[in-house]
Amino acid sequence: MTRRFGFSIHATDGRARTGAIETPRGEIRTPAFMPVGTAATVKAMLPESVRATGADILLGNTYHLMLRPTAERIARLGGLHRFMNWDRPILTDSGGFQVMSLAELRKLTEEGVTFRSHVDGARHSLTPERSMEIQRLLGSDIVMCFDECPALPADRARIEQSMRLSMRWAARSREAFGDRPGHALFGIMQGGLERDLREESAESLKAIGFDGYAVGGLAVGEGQEAMFGVLDYAPGFLPQDKPRYLMGVGKPDDIVGAVQRGIDMFDCVLPSRSGRTGQALTRMGAVNIKNARHADDPRPLDPECSCPACTRYSRAYLHHVFKAGEIISSMLLTWHNLHYYQELMQGLRDAIAAGRLADFAASFHARRAEGDLPPV
Ligand SMILES: [Zn+2]
Repeated sequence: MTRRFGFSIHATDGRARTGAIETPRGEIRTPAFMPVGTAATVKAMLPESVRATGADILLGNTYHLMLRPTAERIARLGGLHRFMNWDRPILTDSGGFQVMSLAELRKLTEEGVTFRSHVDGARHSLTPERSMEIQRLLGSDIVMCFDECPALPADRARIEQSMRLSMRWAARSREAFGDRPGHALFGIMQGGLERDLREESAESLKAIGFDGYAVGGLAVGEGQEAMFGVLDYAPGFLPQDKPRYLMGVGKPDDIVGAVQRGIDMFDCVLPSRSGRTGQALTRMGAVNIKNARHADDPRPLDPECSCPACTRYSRAYLHHVFKAGEIISSMLLTWHNLHYYQELMQGLRDAIAAGRLADFAASFHARRAEGDLPPV
């Protein structure tokens, strides 16, 4: 196994690419979906179950882990991989996005952000240097630059000011990260929906030099059409030979459209969070297992799915355990949703390799348009 971080593209179809990211902890097949393990766990799933769905890499949240149990404690206990019993690659975010969305009494300066913990009210600060230190203590394989991201809509002056601050923080992140063979640092492009600001941001990041590049500042309320509008050009500003990561995306149709526009990596809480609220994400679209129509339905959730929820249980059972508030409801629906996402990624990878991505996307949309099975 390689000791270096690397990326190779095996095939392309239009702007879409399939390949692999090599890390000392294993290969990440791309396009890749990363389940979110916020607090050192993918909620309701054992790590071996997450792996069984086909995940090559997990995402951990710096903000949550720095507050509880703290990066220093995780480091003393052997790092995040050992702590959470996941020996494959882990990507950690920088904490910046969640400070902005979760923390209280935030104060943003050139230096960084100070805030109060949403857990216990304690004062903390995050800077590019502190974010790099936390991600190193966690033992993250792919480290994200510390950045700032305004919610959309925001006016152009705010987007521009924020993007330029993020680029100065990107340079400080690069400096603080240093030289760590086998570990990667990704830069994050900002610039909202402004094409020239996206290009300026990409040029700044390329001048600094990163192992991979994220498209940040999307999936923050702008809608799919606006997001695809940016993805029609933004990936083209980034180096062809490095992985491209669309942060916080998304719904299955967001992922298909973004892969068609040249994105290689995704993360989203949607499959795991939906699993806990009774929503199944399937080839047929979203199925609400809470709905009374499932109460007497002996059929599987998705007859074509090979996950444990679909092969061993009926819709009636899934409906019952959700209504009864049983823990197995979250376990089974999360497993199904993550399995569906990984199967979708495998389908995308196979389709790109075979040069038939357009056909794959057409049948993906056609099956969803048909909707759920007719009621029994
Ligand atoms: Zn299933």
